[in-house]
Amino acid sequence: MTDSQRLHDALLTIDSHIDIPWPPGPSPFEDGPRRVDLPKMRRGGVGAGCFAAYIPQGKRDAAGFASAYERATAMLHAIRAMAAPAPDGTAGHLATSVAEVEAARLAGGPAIIPAVENGHAMGETLDHLDAFRALGARYMTLTHNGHNALADSSVPRRDLGDGPDLHGGLSDLGRAAIGRMNALGMMVDISHVSKAAMLQAIDVSRTPLIATHSSVRALCDHPRNLDDAQLDALASSGGVVQVTLVSFFLKLGKKETEVTIADFVDHIDYAVQRMGIAHVGIGSDFDGGGGVVGWRDAGESANVTAELMRRGYDRVAIAALWGGNFLRVMRMAEEAAG
Ligand SMILES: [Zn+2]
Repeated sequence: MTDSQRLHDALLTIDSHIDIPWPPGPSPFEDGPRRVDLPKMRRGGVGAGCFAAYIPQGKRDAAGFASAYERATAMLHAIRAMAAPAPDGTAGHLATSVAEVEAARLAGGPAIIPAVENGHAMGETLDHLDAFRALGARYMTLTHNGHNALADSSVPRRDLGDGPDLHGGLSDLGRAAIGRMNALGMMVDISHVSKAAMLQAIDVSRTPLIATHSSVRALCDHPRNLDDAQLDALASSGGVVQVTLVSFFLKLGKKETEVTIADFVDHIDYAVQRMGIAHVGIGSDFDGGGGVVGWRDAGESANVTAELMRRGYDRVAIAALWGGNFLRVMRMAEEAAG
């Protein structure tokens, strides 16, 4: 066994953003076409994954809100079902707290952490956040592509009639949603939101924010990435950017086959140098667009540890990147709840 494999196996590794097929596709219990299933998580030594109930942006009207909420709850149930015993006798572990993530590791893992992607899922009803939390959701991305009732998106949806912005950042409802999420212990995810909305959210939230799947704009000028001012603001507020693996967020306009794991770790290097080691993590966006040469699916996750070691990161730094920083923010959200 190589040194990097030995180190990788000893770490609690967390991938902070993974999508699931919807309508439900191939079984998560079989090593099939999904980039992340339970066998690949085990093979790749992935200790925990945040699985997102992703809601496409639709119309901001009563019918749109109702169907978004219905889909979100159905997807959260499907994510919870990934922790059920598998046909081969193995099981994932539902983890909705730091303690449960750590317990899952002791039990042989992997931990399944539910999440929601796109605040459109709650429509205009704050109580829906309580329902998501009751189903285990530990973070919610305020927007996806397209403005919603909570906030402006970094990528307006012209086909839905979006202009450059709708609220000038957060709406009043968005501010209230952050307050409710703080009370519930749900982390506020600012991946996908506009720069103005992100900077306002830092001021509103009582606990540090996370970007669960965003990369570095200085290296790839895509609006989904965070610029230096955003990285600085996130770091000074105690938050974390989870660098993501979408090829065209790493190298502009490039396909998966044209981007490598070294390009991905270049973004980690930049963020670490800019923000400090305590403010950077890893969120693949597998099954939602993530994947590059060298890290095509969860089964290849040890390659990340090998590349970090090759660049001189030590065990403490790699443990922080692979999950320690994410768990710190998650713990702070729990402690500030109630
Ligand atoms: Zn996303």
